[in-house]
Amino acid sequence: MTAQTLYPAERGNLRLSFEYFPPKTDEMEAQLFQTAEDLSVFCPAFVTVTYGAGGSTKTRSLTTVKRMIEEKGFANTAAHLTCVGAPKSEVDTVIDEFLSFGVRHFVALRGDPQGGIGSTYAPFPGGYESSSDLVRALRDRGDVEISVSSYPEKHPESPDVDADIDMLKRKVDAGATRALTQFFFDNDDFERYLERVRRAGIDIPIVPGILPINNLAQVQKFAGLCGASVPEVIVTRLAHLEDQPTERFKEATHIAAEQIVDLARRGVRDFHLYTMNRSPLITAVCDLVGFERADEMAQSEHVALKAVAGAAA
Ligand SMILES: Cc1cc2nc3c(=O)[nH]c(=O)nc-3n(C[C@H](O)[C@H](O)[C@H](O)COP(=O)(O)OP(=O)(O)OC[C@H]3O[C@@H](n4cnc5c(N)ncnc54)[C@H](O)[C@@H]3O)c2cc1C
Repeated sequence: MTAQTLYPAERGNLRLSFEYFPPKTDEMEAQLFQTAEDLSVFCPAFVTVTYGAGGSTKTRSLTTVKRMIEEKGFANTAAHLTCVGAPKSEVDTVIDEFLSFGVRHFVALRGDPQGGIGSTYAPFPGGYESSSDLVRALRDRGDVEISVSSYPEKHPESPDVDADIDMLKRKVDAGATRALTQFFFDNDDFERYLERVRRAGIDIPIVPGILPINNLAQVQKFAGLCGASVPEVIVTRLAHLEDQPTERFKEATHIAAEQIVDLARRGVRDFHLYTMNRSPLITAVCDLVGFERADEMAQSEHVALKAVAGAAA
């Protein structure tokens, strides 16, 4: 068995989704759409567009989602949305706008405190108080898919994992249909978390968030802020390659592919990849794991149809 590549028989029913963020400049926008185009060869089940901290990217998020759906044809685009910095009426207007573009899938979040990560969260006056409140409001809109966040290593504001799982339960009870996890690098953490989630009676899909490491220092900083850990073994594998971009890229590809392959062998079928709006590393990871590209899928379908036709003849 190889550590980074699945055998064809192991690849059945694997599904990918990709996360993007709203670009700040025209140049970044062009890069985002090119990335989405490049990665579309892996036929993602859906893609998502984040909503800036404090609602800071409201207009850019709306424009990006609209263009992804209407101009680029990515009908399966999900819109992230937070409760931060806006009264209910404003959030409801944003929901209306997303729905008018054809959005049928939301990623509903509380969001970080307006004072930044680490400060105390206070609901906006007249706003949605919590992520579960926002989920309920979206559920009242009818037939939409609602994904939410979950935290295998617990959210930094949670006293413990049980408090985190209680919050997840409240979101599911309010109508959430899927959880996308914060990134993590130790699959044992994920498996332990999943067992506790299932024991709590939560049965929605918990989709692991995978972050291929483009920039180790940046990931370590971000992990520190959001309560995720970067195992020493990963730091050791990447830190000495700081000045060797080709080797670093290769090692980062192997690390993410190993993580996905191991999860797939533990029974995971869905993977949410944090793309950072760049395609080369994500493409290399997906290819190394053995995710089928659209042309290969068409080829396998063709072979299967021929086999069925042959059997019927
Ligand atoms: C998949 C994913 C996508 C994300 N997308 C975005 C995005 O698009 N935009 C953005 O700004 N951020 C995003 N975030 C980050 C997220 O907004 C922050 O982690 C935020 O701090 C929590 O929001 P939440 O919906 O995850 O919180 P919740 O799930 O509501 O809460 C997380 C945990 O914090 C604790 N908690 C919640 N509220 C309180 C409280 N009032 N007092 C004490 N403890 C509390 C609970 O124990 C809970 O388990 C994303 C995170 C993930 C994992």
